[in-house]
Amino acid sequence: MSQKVYITGKLVSKEEATINVYDHGLLYGDGVFEGIRVYGGKVFLHEEHIARLYESALAIRLPIPMSTSEMIDAVEMTVKENGIVDGYIRLVVTRGGGSLGLDIRKTSDPQVIIIADTITLYPEEIYKNGMKLITASTIRNHPGALSARIKSLNYLNNILAKIEGIDAGSPEALMLNHKGEVAECSGDNIFIVKDGVLKTPGPDAGILEGLTRNAVMKIARESGYEVKECVLLRHDIYIADECFLTGSAAEVVPVVSLDGRDIGEGAPGPVTLELLEKFQAFARS
Ligand code: PMP
Repeated sequence: MSQKVYITGKLVSKEEATINVYDHGLLYGDGVFEGIRVYGGKVFLHEEHIARLYESALAIRLPIPMSTSEMIDAVEMTVKENGIVDGYIRLVVTRGGGSLGLDIRKTSDPQVIIIADTITLYPEEIYKNGMKLITASTIRNHPGALSARIKSLNYLNNILAKIEGIDAGSPEALMLNHKGEVAECSGDNIFIVKDGVLKTPGPDAGILEGLTRNAVMKIARESGYEVKECVLLRHDIYIADECFLTGSAAEVVPVVSLDGRDIGEGAPGPVTLELLEKFQAFARS
């Protein structure tokens, strides 16, 4: 079956799914997006992702030309038409075509694009043996310049950090914020476990409030763990018992070292493995 892409009201073949070169999404990264998992044919945290998409759009003053329920239906239809059972959706809304120049008043027709595909973000080996993480020198965008809570098409900040990770042999990279505190990774949120307590930076650290992060926090609390959103320094990661990352594509990833220093035993820890298993069960429930 050939892959079908939803683009502004229509499902067309992948080859026919094209975009205007004058679209400000392409020219200026002017747009918003979501990355969403499908488990067992069900769109995971569907309403939450759609809510975040519309909040991102509101924050950049981009009116999405369809209602949230129409968007939910369009996503469901794209998943079904492509026969996706376990997969990954990329939902993009661009500002639309316009003349050259930043003025949004000279644009029209925001484009809604839905791609339903599969994804393998990290090799299986990383889930078994853990990831060796490094700290990037690229800091997270200053929240006063561009809020990290907006999932915008401007991902260069993250890409530059990711390149540093890859150069150092790590598929991810830890990013600090403008205050030198731990923020998040280039495309994943970060948690530590210390003395049985889970800790993760709060939204005021300049992070994207990940939906996997929120789900894992809920699962951890239901499992009896104390979960704290608090300021974390790199020092806290170095002295942590365990560390892991969360993200829609990544799911739950054990981290076993930071900057060449072992975290805890230098192997995926018991709390991480428990939460990874419980998250998988929840996602497929
Ligand atoms: N932080 C950043 C910068 C991200 O791009 C993402 C999504 N890939 C996350 C965190 C994790 O968010 P979610 O769990 O909602 O996918």
